[in-house]
Amino acid sequence: CLCLTGCGKQTTEATAQIFAMDTVMEVAAYGEHAEQAVKYTEKRIEELENRLSRTKAHSLVSGLNRDGSIRHLTYDYWNLIARAKEYRDATNGAFDITIAPVMDAWGFTGDSFRVPEQSELDTLLKKVNSDAIQMLGSPSDSVTLGEGQAIDLGGIAKGYTSDCVEAVFYDHEIENGKISLGGNVFVLGTKPDGSDWRVGIKDPRNESGLAAILSLRDAYAITSGGYERYFEENGKTYHHIIDPATGYPADSGLLSVTVVADANGPDQEWVLPGNGTMCDAFSTALFVMGEEQALDFWRNGGYDFDLVLVTEDGRVVITAGLADRFEEVKDSGYTYET
Ligand code: ADP
Ligand code: MG
Ligand code: MG
Repeated sequence: CLCLTGCGKQTTEATAQIFAMDTVMEVAAYGEHAEQAVKYTEKRIEELENRLSRTKAHSLVSGLNRDGSIRHLTYDYWNLIARAKEYRDATNGAFDITIAPVMDAWGFTGDSFRVPEQSELDTLLKKVNSDAIQMLGSPSDSVTLGEGQAIDLGGIAKGYTSDCVEAVFYDHEIENGKISLGGNVFVLGTKPDGSDWRVGIKDPRNESGLAAILSLRDAYAITSGGYERYFEENGKTYHHIIDPATGYPADSGLLSVTVVADANGPDQEWVLPGNGTMCDAFSTALFVMGEEQALDFWRNGGYDFDLVLVTEDGRVVITAGLADRFEEVKDSGYTYET
């Protein structure tokens, strides 16, 4: 801990590295209760992983997939699934949590990767449609999957976790803070010195490089890319973001999609999920859609967010709301379009 100001109220810094959800996470918090905030953040992430993971037998998701139905869900988890259904409809099925059986067929759930036959995929794709999930509100608070369906929350779990960490920060009166869950970043306030947080967007073509840098405060910046998890077979690369229209890894001309939106803010009633979840769902969905459809969705989809798209043909496309919030990276080899 270090004291940053000499002004009565002690501002301390606390940081931690957490390994959860198959990801290295880094959290930093500044405020009088920074240490408690970081401790509680670790606890909350562990709890969320235990609830949302498909690979933990006793998770809520594993139970739902096993039994086909679950009752008396707490409102936040019920609402997370309701939101996932909403995003499926909003993205015309590009985002769909009932993709689980297809993820299994490719071996992405564990590590025994394989390329399934198209006929196998076609059979499994008949189960992919979260419109078939039935939900009853209070007092039942139940979720019932369609026949043979299973869900995979991997496309929103980290975004939802960042929403929860935002809430933890407010509960502990954190003034400035940041959490990075792999490519999923939330920043609260500014840096302690009052300047914007600088959030690097990884270069999908160069592991150690950046494609762009964003200057952000009170914001989410959540990235999906085919480079995060993949395997190779017969000289071909297969990654973990599946196009529900084909059952194959999305091949839309994009290398990564970053979705940026405002923090949820301290004033709102803490009804989760929030904008972190939205950014995560849309980063996955827009990666599936490709540039043209993604930009159309940005314009006409009815949600408030901005985008950084990195394309296979070497362009970085930035939407209007970020025009004065991004920096080019010299020698990255990209051309920049706003
Ligand atoms: P990351 O895991 O790198 O953050 P994403 O947020 O894009 O990347 O999530 C990818 C995960 O989302 C996959 O591992 C899988 O669990 C799930 N998934 C893959 N394709 C889809 C899809 N079309 N709709 C919803 N979830 C998906
Ligand atoms: Mg996602
Ligand atoms: Mg993600």
